[in-house]
Amino acid sequence: MTESTTSPSNPFDGVAASDLEPTAEFAARMDDLDPLASFRDSFHLPTDAKGRPVAYFVGNSLGLQPRDARGIVEEVMDDWARLAVDGHFEAERPWYPFHEQVRDGLAMVVGAKPCEVVAMNTLTVNLHLLLMSFHRPEGGRRRILIEDGAFPSDTYAVTSHVAARGGDPLSDVVRIAPRDGEDLLRTDDVLERIRELGGTLSTVMLGGVNFRTGQLLDLPAITTAGHAVGATVGFDLAHAAGNVPLRLHDDGVDYAAWCNYKYLNAGPGSVAGVFINERHAMNLELPRFAGWWGNDPETRFRMHLEDTFVPVPSAEAWQLSNPPILSMAPLVSSLERFAAAGMDRLRDKSRVLTGFLHECLREFLPDDASIITPTNAEERGCQLTVRLAGDARTRFESLARHGVIADFRPPDLVRLAPVPLYNSFHDCFRAASALRDA
Ligand SMILES: *Cc1c(COP(=O)(O)O)cnc(C)c1O
Repeated sequence: MTESTTSPSNPFDGVAASDLEPTAEFAARMDDLDPLASFRDSFHLPTDAKGRPVAYFVGNSLGLQPRDARGIVEEVMDDWARLAVDGHFEAERPWYPFHEQVRDGLAMVVGAKPCEVVAMNTLTVNLHLLLMSFHRPEGGRRRILIEDGAFPSDTYAVTSHVAARGGDPLSDVVRIAPRDGEDLLRTDDVLERIRELGGTLSTVMLGGVNFRTGQLLDLPAITTAGHAVGATVGFDLAHAAGNVPLRLHDDGVDYAAWCNYKYLNAGPGSVAGVFINERHAMNLELPRFAGWWGNDPETRFRMHLEDTFVPVPSAEAWQLSNPPILSMAPLVSSLERFAAAGMDRLRDKSRVLTGFLHECLREFLPDDASIITPTNAEERGCQLTVRLAGDARTRFESLARHGVIADFRPPDLVRLAPVPLYNSFHDCFRAASALRDA
């Protein structure tokens, strides 16, 4: 990296892969320059047996705990003890409109209007609720396109959903796989498949970032292709939300769902997120499963007087129950971090951080190992997936002894996700060195 390509406000601007030197000195220099470095201290980092912080590379599985999450959870507990039922309106953060506190933050993270997002339920539950509205089998249009080797819960959800609604999963669930001998989907193949399915395609439901390979799909191109054949297009963004910049509204995506415990650090099993494009969210006629929390808040408590469901004209209409406040509380503190850091700055750092890990791995890995994640930074988020040869599991297990926490997908894949909010360049150097020594 040369002086001329570095602006003091954004040292990551204009850094090319060839600028990245796989050395501890370079890592230290980048950590010194990193304008987001201080965010690391606002999270609890687990320590090893000797009390040293681990190099945590599994924020794609469970994000770290924001230090002030506990305070917000305790505030809810205190308000409950002090106010009981009155906490709904008189708590420090009143529970009745509690979900509104995460609305703008979630909208910013996924590139949506506030009326297009809502925090509710958990991811797989939300997939079913969304499919209820956006998979509308009719005549010959009955098929759902998903990826082969999708996260198992997504496959179970789509398959069982189709069956429960009288469809035949064998013909109605179409899976798209990488070409023989390849690990990644080619965008052209996805678009071609959508064109082939044409009028038989009801909806596309793909993972925005693949959980296994880390590949980021071309969301706008897929959305355009789906719409061109009259299908709705939705994405599972479990590995994309908080990881890559998203523009769901501008891209015209119909619907999306994600969990908030991965890159969004809201804690184990926390309440999830949903996006419903404004044009559908405002359509009060759209079929949906309903519950009282999706009803207009003005008349919600008059239910014994008015038994007609009046949906809120927003994504909030898909809410069923009053929300789990304790599970939503940590998300408030995490989203404050995202707002302070900004998705653009996070992405700038993420490109360079993951690029640096990529360089270190290329330098340190034995020749029989390979990185299956796309090399092009525009086609991936922060995760890199490494295929190890030989006894992959044993090599993976030795990482933990070096204080590097990664994740193993049998038979031979190790996933490493340097998260720009709290991982350092030093962490990346440490992980690659540990893999070399494994
Ligand atoms: C993490 C993840 C899930 C998990 O689903 P839950 O309902 O939150 O348990 C589902 N799908 C994908 C693609 C995931 O990455």
